[in-house]
Amino acid sequence: MIKPHIVILGAGYGGIMTAVKLQKQLGKNEAEITLVHKYDYHFQASCLHENAAGTRHQDRSKIKIKEIINRSKINFIIDEVVSIKRNSKKIKLKNKELHYDLLVIGLGFEPRAEGIPGLDEHAYSITDINSARFVREHIEYNFASYANAEKKDESKLSIVIGGGGILGVEFAGELINQIPEICREFDIEKTQVHISILEESKSLLPGFDEKLAHYAATSLQSRGVEIIHQAKLKECQDNKIIYETEGKNHKICTHTFIWTGGVQANPAFEKAGLALKNKKIEVDPNMLSTKDDSIFVVGECAYTADEHGEEVLPTAKKAIEEAAVVAKNVSSRLRNKELTACQPVKQGMLATLGQEDGVAVIKNRKVFGWRAVLVKRIYDNHYLFQLGGWQLLLKKGNFHLL
Ligand SMILES: Cc1cc2nc3c(=O)[nH]c(=O)nc-3n(C[C@H](O)[C@H](O)[C@H](O)COP(=O)(O)OP(=O)(O)OC[C@H]3O[C@@H](n4cnc5c(N)ncnc54)[C@H](O)[C@@H]3O)c2cc1C
Repeated sequence: MIKPHIVILGAGYGGIMTAVKLQKQLGKNEAEITLVHKYDYHFQASCLHENAAGTRHQDRSKIKIKEIINRSKINFIIDEVVSIKRNSKKIKLKNKELHYDLLVIGLGFEPRAEGIPGLDEHAYSITDINSARFVREHIEYNFASYANAEKKDESKLSIVIGGGGILGVEFAGELINQIPEICREFDIEKTQVHISILEESKSLLPGFDEKLAHYAATSLQSRGVEIIHQAKLKECQDNKIIYETEGKNHKICTHTFIWTGGVQANPAFEKAGLALKNKKIEVDPNMLSTKDDSIFVVGECAYTADEHGEEVLPTAKKAIEEAAVVAKNVSSRLRNKELTACQPVKQGMLATLGQEDGVAVIKNRKVFGWRAVLVKRIYDNHYLFQLGGWQLLLKKGNFHLL
């Protein structure tokens, strides 16, 4: 008997959770399942800012996929998705082609192209393990070359973060705490290092409660981070950036500009002819593409709205909750049962400001300081437990006391 072939693209939060749930829900004879992913590991994207700052080794954020999937139920292919050909139900990978009966797209995000001159060529971004490691090593290289030079170039010790949203703020909070250690390593006086955040709006963390944003700004400033509000990035060069405030242009000499200003859903699906909204795939309440009922979408690639019609912000929580619905609906589809609608994900708000400080809104309560960090750790640990049980939790969990 020919079994229906389910193909899952991407093993981020959404894709891997769909795969793990499906391997529990479906019997071996019900379907053939294939998971396609760029790397042999899944990574916790919500910890990448720690990897980039050097406060967490990348191995702690990497989880070998073969250790969490049941290989008698799931074929795992390490390859890159190039395109989706809906007419023939085929996926073009770099090295082969796959046929699917049901498809789950979970290809995640990548930095948003903003059309700012020099941004693509000179800015660094934090989107996966390799880019996070590149940022860390680039900062260390610049500190080392400053220490080693006869004629000192202060711009090597200047780090500019473009964007004061969650990613920019979390990265700044981690990095400023790590600076004394990096300075010790390279014999540099820590007061010479300069970290600044450029933010286009009036306050950090747009969309967060005002009190939380104010707390975050005060925490970062008290540790020496400069925050430049209402600053519009105009140009990025290899040794400086130019920004505008109140109609005037300013420059900061730097070799390290990290762009955290925005991400967009992965464009690998763009030519598939699916209905898109805000560059994401439009889905119905069952997480099916509105244009093709053999394609489910999960996480960052899926455009979903809350009860007020506002777009639900892409977060790990959104991807994980949607994965549970997608897995259930894939099983239901194979068994000719009714599909289940995905309830709009209720978002809390959380931003860490280093390993000991943070801000959050949990169940309408504002949480500040170490309590917010604790919430994030509980959340991350719970995710590991869901994914790989006690074994994975004990291996990769964060049990550090604050
Ligand atoms: C630094 C940082 C900090 C964050 N902090 C938080 C936080 O604290 N809390 C929170 O909830 N969210 C946070 N987020 C957001 C969160 O990580 C994303 O919303 C979440 O990862 C989206 O999950 P996903 O499954 O849609 O995609 P992803 O987790 O991005 O997974 C997609 C996967 O697909 C793979 N892939 C991409 N293209 C291809 C291709 N062509 N072929 C094969 N494989 C491919 C990628 O390698 C990736 O692993 C953070 C994000 C970043 C970058």
